Amino acid sequence: MYAVTHFSVGLMLGQAVGNSYAACALGLASHVVLDAIPHSDYSKIIHGVSDLAAVAAVYCISIRAGMGVCALIGGLAAILPDLEVAIVHLRMARDQLLCKPRLFFPSHSGLVRHGRLPLPWGVATQIATVVMVWVALRSAFM
Ligand SMILES: [Zn+2]
Repeated sequence: MYAVTHFSVGLMLGQAVGNSYAACALGLASHVVLDAIPHSDYSKIIHGVSDLAAVAAVYCISIRAGMGVCALIGGLAAILPDLEVAIVHLRMARDQLLCKPRLFFPSHSGLVRHGRLPLPWGVATQIATVVMVWVALRSAFM
């Protein structure tokens, strides 16, 4: 999934749980669950840069909405696993590698299924996921 999707869900989970360690654990766990949902990914660096800009925008909005440090920890933990994907793509581009280096995070290595869906449905599932998590947490904690 896009980093902004992982970050938004991790942010909400971290804010809901209100504990830094639990926020970190939930952020990482949410990454595995969200990667299993059919979605579209991107492979161009410009899309990754846009995705990170969207993460920054969501973070700024969350600060204005009063979210705390646990939310930030949850959000960062949720996007952290995709750092290995970004590093692999950058290495492949720089070194002109023909085969993809090994990935280690369970939803990237093949240990846990990684759902795929073409556009526009792959984006629709991500929007629906963020909305469903927001609705579920809102009704559970408010
Ligand atoms: Zn991932």
